[in-house]
Amino acid sequence: MIQKLMRKYAVSEKGAKDLIYAVLAGICVDLALMLPVGLLYLLVEDMLADAPFRHLPWMMIGCVLALVLIGLSALWQYNATFFAMYRESGNKRIALAEKLRKLPLSFFGKRDSADLTTVILGDVAALEHSLSHQFSQFYAAIFSTLLMAIGLFFFNWKLSLAAFWMLPISVAIVFGSKQIQHRLSRAQIQARLKTADGIQEYLETSKDLKSANAERTYLDRLSSDIDTAENLSVKAELSTGLIVNSAQMLLKFGIATVALVGGNLLLKGEIDVITFFCFLLVVSRVYEPLNASLINLAALNALELNVDRMNEITDCPEQTGAEQLTNEGYDIVFDHVGFSYNAEETVLKDVSFTAKQGEVTALVGPSGGGKTTVSRLAARFWDPTGGTVTVGGMDITKVDPETLLQLYSIVFQDVTLFDNTIMENIRVGAKDATDEEVIAAAKMANVDEFVKDLPQGYQTVIGENGSELSGGERQRISIARAFLKDAPIILLDEATASLDAENETKVQSALSALIKNKTVLLIAHRMRTVAEADKIVVLKDGKAEEQGRPEELYRQNGIYTRMADLQSASGTWNV
Ligand code: ADP
Ligand code: MG
Repeated sequence: MIQKLMRKYAVSEKGAKDLIYAVLAGICVDLALMLPVGLLYLLVEDMLADAPFRHLPWMMIGCVLALVLIGLSALWQYNATFFAMYRESGNKRIALAEKLRKLPLSFFGKRDSADLTTVILGDVAALEHSLSHQFSQFYAAIFSTLLMAIGLFFFNWKLSLAAFWMLPISVAIVFGSKQIQHRLSRAQIQARLKTADGIQEYLETSKDLKSANAERTYLDRLSSDIDTAENLSVKAELSTGLIVNSAQMLLKFGIATVALVGGNLLLKGEIDVITFFCFLLVVSRVYEPLNASLINLAALNALELNVDRMNEITDCPEQTGAEQLTNEGYDIVFDHVGFSYNAEETVLKDVSFTAKQGEVTALVGPSGGGKTTVSRLAARFWDPTGGTVTVGGMDITKVDPETLLQLYSIVFQDVTLFDNTIMENIRVGAKDATDEEVIAAAKMANVDEFVKDLPQGYQTVIGENGSELSGGERQRISIARAFLKDAPIILLDEATASLDAENETKVQSALSALIKNKTVLLIAHRMRTVAEADKIVVLKDGKAEEQGRPEELYRQNGIYTRMADLQSASGTWNV
């Protein structure tokens, strides 16, 4: 049962136990709330017997007892639901974020960021709300109503039948309609996600959309997506409303049938007025909890969908490995490596080459040839589908990704910056670095040149993903990070591509200081950058077609020769 709850509601073992306690506590609250009805019964009986004070002391004690019981059980319920579930959802968010940290990058190719944000914020919030406000209340209401029904059955079965005959029917309606509700809520959630996605995409790309004059078309499409989501929401709400209201209406019939049957039995003399009165009182109160929690039925039903989406993340296999590094030296060896991002296309078929420590190995080849992919496989951003990648003889798929990344300084084409100061953005390279060390790295990467013109210097905040900087400035910050980290392996993917010639020369000379004695994997389009490498690997059609020293390779009159000639013919041609 605990296991089942853990799975079904994505809670921890403690959370599952708390859910059970919460239901038990809820039952206690519901039953304790019926105690005053019993006391009232005694009072009416005494009044009818013309001795209203006969049981007074007992009644007083009963009142106090009922009050204490209600208070205690409510306190217990409060603890087991609200406190427990808020703690649970906090832990859940942390657990999801931890999990995301350990997932391979390939996962993020499949799920976009709006979707993941919705899971961590929206789905967990829905779970928190439902588990604290609805789950235990709903099940407690069903169980306590059933318990009351059974108890009253022994008291007077005819009247009990009259009071509870429709209980099974309305419970059946509620649970029977689950499938329909599920279908509707699923469609609704998906439509909402699509609009959330669309809005985020719009905000991120509005500049490009404007410049491409495509804003109108985009917004029209977004607007129709929002309409669809709205329609689906109305549909889902309407169907829930219908189901819940018919169940609630059925419950109300209880009062009518108790009045009818009770009146009849009273006339026949089978029951006395007090019993009749008491039953009327009970049926008017007994459905309160059930009625109240039926209103939340839709949310409770949709909960399984929220949980499914969380479990999708939790169930995804992680990239794991040893936390000890066993490499000797830092030679990177690709041995018959194959790789594909998805089933449709094989990006790397069979790539073998060695990038030696102390040398610069340049990857060249046509755009889309797999250069970036190779550099990412070298740092275990993905695991190869065939063959092995080793660093100093250590198979990198056997090493914990975070431990492994200590060995790398990476400057990629697409730089990620944080909405923080320039100082902190560079410090990402080595979080314990002092301000002086950060500035020294910044100077080497020519960051200093544009920072000194900024009014707040290194304390300037650069906007979301560095939106207030130019491409070249962003790239220089990324290079400064690499300088600061000063790791033994350096991956440079078009690191200087968005720099102008003057800055490129400056950064290039700084880079050559950085890369001394290190293993360097370099991707560049400019052949003059590549020509200074110690080794060149030409990637084409998923294979390492040619490799060797630049001058040797040039003499072979192959792909590299053609690429080099083409560029020198077109002067400073670059892509
Ligand atoms: P290069 O850097 O040589 O231009 P890439 O390694 O970026 O080449 O890309 C090689 C191929 O892999 C291309 O066909 C590209 O479309 C595909 N590709 C790159 N990244 C992804 C990704 N994240 N998901 C799916 N396909 C990708
Ligand atoms: Mg690339």
